[in-house]
Amino acid sequence: MLREIIENFGDEVVRVSTPVRKELEITRYLLRHRERPVLFEDVGGWQVAGNIWSTRDRISGYLGVRKEELVHLLTDSMEKPRPYRVVSNAPFLKNSTSDFSLLELPIPKYFPNDGGHYFTSAIVVARDEKGFVNMSFHRMMVTGERRAAIRLVPRHLYSMWKDRAEKGEELDVRIIVGNPVHILLAGATSVAYGVSELEIASALSEKAFGKPLEAVEVGGIPVPAETEFVFEAKILPELTNEGPFVDITGTYDYVRRQPVVVFERMYHVDNPIFHALLPGGYEHYMLMGLPKEPQIYAAVKRVVPKVHGVRLTEGGAMWLHAVVSITKQHEGDGKNAILAAFAGHPSLKHVTVVDEDIDIYDDRDVEWAVATRFQADRDLVIIPSARGSSLDPSAEKSLTAKWGIDATKPLDRKEEFERARI
Ligand code: MN
Repeated sequence: MLREIIENFGDEVVRVSTPVRKELEITRYLLRHRERPVLFEDVGGWQVAGNIWSTRDRISGYLGVRKEELVHLLTDSMEKPRPYRVVSNAPFLKNSTSDFSLLELPIPKYFPNDGGHYFTSAIVVARDEKGFVNMSFHRMMVTGERRAAIRLVPRHLYSMWKDRAEKGEELDVRIIVGNPVHILLAGATSVAYGVSELEIASALSEKAFGKPLEAVEVGGIPVPAETEFVFEAKILPELTNEGPFVDITGTYDYVRRQPVVVFERMYHVDNPIFHALLPGGYEHYMLMGLPKEPQIYAAVKRVVPKVHGVRLTEGGAMWLHAVVSITKQHEGDGKNAILAAFAGHPSLKHVTVVDEDIDIYDDRDVEWAVATRFQADRDLVIIPSARGSSLDPSAEKSLTAKWGIDATKPLDRKEEFERARI
C-alpha cells in the first residue's frame, strides 16, 4: 500500500502536517519540492500525497533495477503480459459506502484557470462484452457531488464507451486512485486493443517482486488489490464541458465536450492516501514519458544494430524531446536513428543522437556532445510540417517541424573527438 511505500522513502519525503487547502495550495508544495515526495497529513481531514514517482531513480529503485534497465523492463512487460491472480480480499474492501460526495474528497484544483477540481492519477478499468479488460489513465473534472466529466482520448476506453453510447447504454467502469508505480506505468502504456494493461502490470510485478499482480473482482471487473481508493461508476451516453486544464507541457488545454461519469460507490483502505498527480510536474512526465521510451528504443534498434540508451528529457516535458545513444558502426547511422526515433514516438519533435560515451541522463554531457561533435549544415535533419503533438502550443493543428541532431563522431576521425581522460 502507498503508506508503506512512502514510509520507505524515508527522509526524502516532505511531510506537511499543517492543514492544506485542496484549492491551489497543494500545487505550491508540489512545485516547491519538485523531486521529493510530499505527504499532506490534513487536506480537509484526508491524507494526500504527490510527487511520489517524480524521479527515474525512485521508480527504478522501487522496481529493483538500474535506471538504464527500466526501458528493457517495460519492453519485456509490454511484449509478454502475464496473467494476474484473482484473490477474494483486499484492504480497500474494508470501507465501502454509497453515501459520499466528491465535493468532500481531497480532489485538488491545481491551477487558477482550471475548469474545476480534477482527478489526475485516476485509472479506469473496464471490461468489454468478450471479457477483455482495459486499464487506462483519464483525467476527470468534478462537476457535482457524484458527477464528473471524463476526458476520453479516442482510444480503447473511448471505443468501449462509444459502442454502448450508440445504443443509448452506460459503460460500467471501476476507477482506482492511489497505486504503486508498476500499475501506473502499465496504465500509461499504449498497447494494442486486446492486450490487457492489467496483465502488463502483472508482468512488471513478476519481474520486480517475483509474484503476479493480485486483483479483486468488484462487481465483475478486476481491480488491483493494492489500490487505495476504488469507485464503482458509469460513463453515460451524455456529454458535458471538460476543461480548461493544464496538460504535460504545462500549458492550458482547451474546453471539449466529453462524456459524463457518475460515481455510485466508494471503497477505500483504512486511512487512505489520495494521489495528487501535478499536471505538468515531474511525476506526470515520468508516468507519461517512460512507457514511450521502449517504443523509441525498438524503432531505433530496427535500423541501428547497437542502441545504448533512450531518454525522453525533463526539459522537453518527457514528451517532445529525446536523447538516443548508439554505437555507431556506419556513417549515416546517426541520421537513420533520428528518422527511426520519430517513427517510434510520433509526438516527438526534437531528438539528439549521441555516441555511447555520452551520459544521456546528464543534460550538460549531451550539450557537450552537441558543442563538440555537431555541425548544423551537415548534421541537422529538419522535417517540415510533420504531424506532431497536439499538446505543443507552437504546433499549428498538430503540424510541426521536427529536427534531429546527429552529434555522433565521424568514424574516420574518431580520435579527434575523444574527451581527454586520466
Ligand atoms: Mn488499452
